[in-house]
Amino acid sequence: MIFRVDDIRYNTNIKELEALHQVFLKYDRIQTLSLIIKGLYNTPTWHWMKKTWKETPKNISFQLHGWKSPHINYDKLSLNEAVKRLRKSIDYWNTYREEMPEFRQFYPPSSLKSYTLYRACEKVGLTLLCGGDNYPMYVCHCGDLPTIQQHVDRLDEFLKNRITNGH
Ligand SMILES: [Zn+2]
Repeated sequence: MIFRVDDIRYNTNIKELEALHQVFLKYDRIQTLSLIIKGLYNTPTWHWMKKTWKETPKNISFQLHGWKSPHINYDKLSLNEAVKRLRKSIDYWNTYREEMPEFRQFYPPSSLKSYTLYRACEKVGLTLLCGGDNYPMYVCHCGDLPTIQQHVDRLDEFLKNRITNGH
């Protein structure tokens, strides 16, 4: 299962990210950040990502969610337009990421997919992942719950139950 924290961007609450990360470390699971790229470099989010990659590379993953917020529907784009947009994000990431790894997956906004988008992802070397039976995903967002502690407790409960059930 992929544990995905969605819509990570330049102004994400890194206190919350860090608190969630401690839960992933406790259960030795991977926190997958689904990134919105525009303006991400050199922000507190960026520095937290670099530091966390350095310290706990086995428990953090960076994947692509989109160029900017609010989202556009990638499933509605032409092949050329989709490739262009995906490349823009990939190029930005590769320009600045240094030791952080390349993207391997694209999680389209709202999990909306199309055959054209599937082909566009193939062209730029990404796997299109929307969750579902083949790739079950746990998706949450910073700010989902009124307090960080409530979010931490919900995640802890979820991971604890999965482990109790042998996953
Ligand atoms: Zn999103």
